[in-house]
Amino acid sequence: MTMAQTQYPPNLTPDQLHFLLTSFADWSLAHGLAVRPQPSLIPENPGNAIAVHAPVALFPSPFPRKLFKEAREIQTVYNELYAKIASEQGEEWLGGIIEEIASVDDFIAQLWKVYKEVKAEGFVQHLSLGLFRSDYMIHKNPKGSNAELAVHQVEFNTISSSFGGLATRVSQLHKHLLRIGAYPDSPIITPSSLPDNPAMTDLADGLAEAHKAYGPGVVSKTTAILFLVQGDERNAFDQRLLEYSLLERHDITTHRITFFEVPHLTTLDPTTKALLYRPPHLPVSSDPIEISTVYFRAGYGPGDYTTPTDWSSRAHLERSRAIKCPTILTQLAGSKKIQQVLAQPISPSSSATNDNNPADILNNFAPKVSIPRLKSTFAPIYPLDSTRLGQHARSLALNPTTAENYVLKPQREGGGNNIYGSKITEFLRSIPETHWSGYILMEKIVPPGGTENLMVRAGAGLKRGEVIGELGVYGVCLWDLKGGITVNREAGWLLRTKGKESEEGGVAAGFGYVDGVVLV
Ligand code: ADP
Ligand code: MG
Repeated sequence: MTMAQTQYPPNLTPDQLHFLLTSFADWSLAHGLAVRPQPSLIPENPGNAIAVHAPVALFPSPFPRKLFKEAREIQTVYNELYAKIASEQGEEWLGGIIEEIASVDDFIAQLWKVYKEVKAEGFVQHLSLGLFRSDYMIHKNPKGSNAELAVHQVEFNTISSSFGGLATRVSQLHKHLLRIGAYPDSPIITPSSLPDNPAMTDLADGLAEAHKAYGPGVVSKTTAILFLVQGDERNAFDQRLLEYSLLERHDITTHRITFFEVPHLTTLDPTTKALLYRPPHLPVSSDPIEISTVYFRAGYGPGDYTTPTDWSSRAHLERSRAIKCPTILTQLAGSKKIQQVLAQPISPSSSATNDNNPADILNNFAPKVSIPRLKSTFAPIYPLDSTRLGQHARSLALNPTTAENYVLKPQREGGGNNIYGSKITEFLRSIPETHWSGYILMEKIVPPGGTENLMVRAGAGLKRGEVIGELGVYGVCLWDLKGGITVNREAGWLLRTKGKESEEGGVAAGFGYVDGVVLV
């Protein structure tokens, strides 16, 4: 039996749809598969008392078993690659590339400045924690008639990799709906085709491993993990699920603060640089809490740094004795530019002495046997600088017909920043040519098509239609400045689904839905 012969998702009678929707909504709210409502839906939310179910795909989307396995298996290789890049082994190579884009990108320049400032003082913490997520779409070569499908990497996230909590919950939701008979009979959805998704607990375990590696407090008897969050975060329950897992599984306490609160609530011990936190709800006389690990769910974009004080706060956290998830070096390793250099097509002019040669980096930082597999996940990505490859990319981007096959990306995270297809030409012409090198030009990934689903968003109702999925695979990695790795694990997965007509897939931005896979 093939997918093409089977209606998916199965058709529903009005009674079946009603049962599915009520079962889904109640399960979601009862289990924290939830978000705070958008102000356009609920303008006032006093005391943050109101939550709604997360935007969700009601059926798990079909995903080829072989590609799912491949994407998960390659994760530890990616973890190692990025850990090594963000260590003394990769720093020179990384720094060379970062300095080039810093000249045209103020945000990257600021991060780099803080990194160098703290480095000059000397790092007191040698361990780094990465909670990574590598994102893929399925690519079908449009030229080949009998082309094999492959997973192609959309991006590699090294900071604030979100949705691990909700990803586990949505997989549990789909299993629950199957068990209670809310899905009409379908040969596709069976218990064995719905894989478990341990993202929530695996990511919490990663934070716990850093906490344990920090050891006992050097100043205070009480240690805890600090979540650095955005004040108006709507995706707070996703983060809370990690916090509750840390408490339940490891008896580790967490605290949440915003960038704004850092100078008011934290200090550095002058001798040890231990990061000391005084929660406002505890008596002033109580001992401060020593922070073992700072987990950044904020700070990935310029919007989080509204005043020079916010930059001082970032420097203050960076120079502290706490383990950072991530360090600034790790955040910079996740720039789109680094992904571009790794995935750039080899031009005939590049030589082995070219210090940007991605082949050297892969050979140095990835196990030899894994390099072909790693490369099979790359979509071609070009620079837009004045190198020969950059010139070639400029000609592709400045012609609206060839630009149709590309996506233009700035060095930003968090969705909504990309420019697609023929709009690239017009956009590049609207900015100074000197700024072009701050962008990368990526070949569009072309999904095979033919997948449908039923999606629901609070306030926007139900939608049925053709969808595109983006698989994220989480990774946990703990390493030291020298590049020695002590923890390296694949840590669960996420499927985000968007309507076929949508270019961006951001769930929080209102374009996408959290989803699970049904393996086919
Ligand atoms: P961000 O850091 O903003 O998440 P991404 O690189 O993940 O940036 O791009 C955002 C979205 O744009 C992706 O989720 C995907 O839907 C779409 N996208 C990005 N790159 C490509 C590509 N090469 N081909 C097709 N769609 C892409
Ligand atoms: Mg993304």
